[in-house]
Amino acid sequence: MPIAISACLLGERVRYDGGDKRAVGLLAALAPHVRWVPLCPEVLAGLGVPRPPIQVIRADGGTGVREVERGTDHTARLAAASAHIVATLRAEGVRGFVCKARSPSCGVGDAPHHAPQGQVMGQGDGVMVAALRVALPPLVVASEAELDSAGACAAFLRQVRAT
Ligand code: SF4
Repeated sequence: MPIAISACLLGERVRYDGGDKRAVGLLAALAPHVRWVPLCPEVLAGLGVPRPPIQVIRADGGTGVREVERGTDHTARLAAASAHIVATLRAEGVRGFVCKARSPSCGVGDAPHHAPQGQVMGQGDGVMVAALRVALPPLVVASEAELDSAGACAAFLRQVRAT
């Protein structure tokens, strides 16, 4: 069963700081049942490794992303990368996605959202996850923070198989 995963969780060194976030327990629990489809929206957006950290900005009823320090707007590049990922998921028949918690791109309901002036306004999806929910409503999305036990991983697989 093809399952997408934030590439850093698989151990790929694609994070903004050049590191990874290999999720050892989750990989051990799910690997026997899935074929991983690793994806990193920020690399696909051409932001490079390493790269300046970005954050989600809420404004005018929508969200965008910009660099924390310089304020460079990457909303359009992340939107294009998300559209590419949607096409990949469709082509591969992917029905589940394991995403990196709290990431401005991959976070699942727990990415910090900021006001244009920079202060935190609350939490929400990362921009890729928000795009996936619109384009692929049946997709089952969960973060590694949610899949923190064998039982949670088994429930995730059952949910994916049921879609
Ligand atoms: S954009 Fe997603 S996949 Fe890429 S490093 Fe950040 S959390 Fe990992």
